[in-house]
Amino acid sequence: MMEKTELVTRLKEIAGEGNVFTGTETEPFLSEPRGRWTGKAAAVVRPGTTEEVAAILKIASETGTPVVPQGGNTGLVGGQIPDMSGTAVILSTARLNRIRDIDPDGNTITVEAGVVLQAVQEAADAHDRLFPLSLGSQGSCQIGGNLSTNAGGTGALAHGVARDLCLGLEVVLPTGEILDDLNKLKKDNTGYNLRNLFIGAEGTLGVITAAVLKLFPKPAGRATAFVALPSPAEALALFARARGEAGNGLTAFELMARIGVEFSVRHIEGVRDPLGEHHPWYVLMEISSGQSEEDARGKLEAVLEYGLEDGLVLDAAIAESYAQHADFWRLREGMSESQKPEGGSIKHDISVPVDSVPDFLAEADKAVLAIEPGSRICAFGHLGDGNIHYNISQPVGADRKVFLQLAEVITPAVHGIVRAHGGSISAEHGIGQMKRAELAETKQPVALDLMRRIKKAFDPAGIMNPGKVL
Ligand code: FAD
Repeated sequence: MMEKTELVTRLKEIAGEGNVFTGTETEPFLSEPRGRWTGKAAAVVRPGTTEEVAAILKIASETGTPVVPQGGNTGLVGGQIPDMSGTAVILSTARLNRIRDIDPDGNTITVEAGVVLQAVQEAADAHDRLFPLSLGSQGSCQIGGNLSTNAGGTGALAHGVARDLCLGLEVVLPTGEILDDLNKLKKDNTGYNLRNLFIGAEGTLGVITAAVLKLFPKPAGRATAFVALPSPAEALALFARARGEAGNGLTAFELMARIGVEFSVRHIEGVRDPLGEHHPWYVLMEISSGQSEEDARGKLEAVLEYGLEDGLVLDAAIAESYAQHADFWRLREGMSESQKPEGGSIKHDISVPVDSVPDFLAEADKAVLAIEPGSRICAFGHLGDGNIHYNISQPVGADRKVFLQLAEVITPAVHGIVRAHGGSISAEHGIGQMKRAELAETKQPVALDLMRRIKKAFDPAGIMNPGKVL
C-alpha cells in the first residue's frame, strides 16, 4: 500500500487541492444519520468528472487502496461508511452534480451520480414530467446512491424500484476503465445486462458516475385519503379493490399501525391525526389519473364506498387541498424520525408476498411479544409491495441498551418468519455492513458463490467497498 502522504498528493493532483480532505476534515463523512456506524479514512476525495474518478480508481487499484463510494450518506445499512482501519479513501460523488440532458419527448433525463434525488424530480417537473422515485431522504440522497441501493420508496407501487427507472449507466470499474452504457433504449437485447449488476451492488463492483433515467407524464389529477381499518387483512382486501378500480393509477398504498401515527403526531412538528379517533390500523391511499382531478377523486370515492359498505373501512378523510395532501404525507414520512425520541428501536426492512402480509404481521407480533411483552411494534410501509418496516420500539421506561441487546433474539425470530413466507430480509435498504453475516447464512449457496465470482471478475484487487455485502 502507498504511503498516505504520497496517496494524498496524488489525489490532490487529480481532483484539486480543495477537493481532498484529511484528518478532522473527514469527520462529516465518517458516520451516518443514525450514528450506528463510524469509520476512519485515509482521505476523502471529491472528483468533479468521470475521468477524475477513473484516475482515482486506477491509483487505488495499483496501490491496493480500499475505496468507499459515498453519495448523500443516507444509507441505512452502513454501506457508505469505511471500517476502522483508516486505510480507505472515501470517494464522495457530491461534485458529480450536473444534469447532462433532459429529453421530455423521449421521456428521459441523463444525470450525474451526485445529483440529489429531489433535484431530478424538480427538473422533471419543470418540463411537465414526473420522476416517480420518492423517498423520505430525497432532499439529501443522490441518484448514484439510489441506484447502488436499488432504492424503493413510495412510488415503487406504480412505477417500480430504482432499477426499473434506469435505462443506461456510466460506470468506472475498479481498474479505472470507463463503461459507457448511457443508452436511452427500451429494447436492447445484446447480451448480458451489465447495468443491472451495478444497480443494487452497493458500490462493491464499481463507481456509478451517470445514469439515463425514465420520465413519465405528470398525472392530470390526484386524490389522497387517510383511511382507518380494523386490521391488515381488511387493508389487503381494500388494496385489491383499489388496484382493480385504478390499476397503475393506484400510486400509493401505505399501511401504518396506530402506534406509528401516535409517534408521528407526538414528535413531528405540525403533524396531527386526520381522523382524531383511535383506530388500530391506517392506510394512506393515493390514486392518480391521466385524465383529471375528478376522475382520480371519483375512483378514490368508489373504493372508499365499497370499503365502508363491506366493513373494511372504519373511517376515512379525503384531502380537500394540496396542503391537506401534504399533511397526510408528512405524517407518513415522519414515521421513521418519530421513533427516535421513543428510545431504542430494533428495525427490520422486510418483504413477503403481498397476500402474506397479514399473516406475517400476526406471527411476528406474537413472537416479539413473547420475547419482550411490553414492546411497541411500529410496523408501517408499502403494503402493495409486500414491504413492511417492522420496527419495534422499547417498552415505556425500559433501559435502551438492554432492550437493543434483544435484537440478538428478536431479529432471527422475525427473519425466520419472513423466510417461512418466502420473503426477503432486505426489501429496499440493502445489505451493507448490517446484514452481511445474515446474507452469508441465509442466501442460497449457489447464488452466494455466483456473487463472489462476479465480484472477483469485476474487482480482482478487492478494493471496491470491502467488507460490504459479501
Ligand atoms: P449513500 O448512503 O451515500 O450510499 C449507499 C450505498 O451506495 C453505499 O454502499 C455506497 O457505497 C453506495 N454508493 C453511493 N453512491 C455510489 C455510486 N455513485 N457508485 C457506487 N456506489 C455508490 N430507502 C429506500 O429504499 N426507500 C425508502 O423509502 C427510504 N426512506 C428513507 C428515509 C430516510 C429518512 C432515510 C434517512 C433513508 C431512507 N432510505 C430509503 C435509505 C436511503 O435513503 C437510500 O438507501 C438511498 O438510496 C441512499 O442514497 P445515498 O445517496 O444517500 O447513498
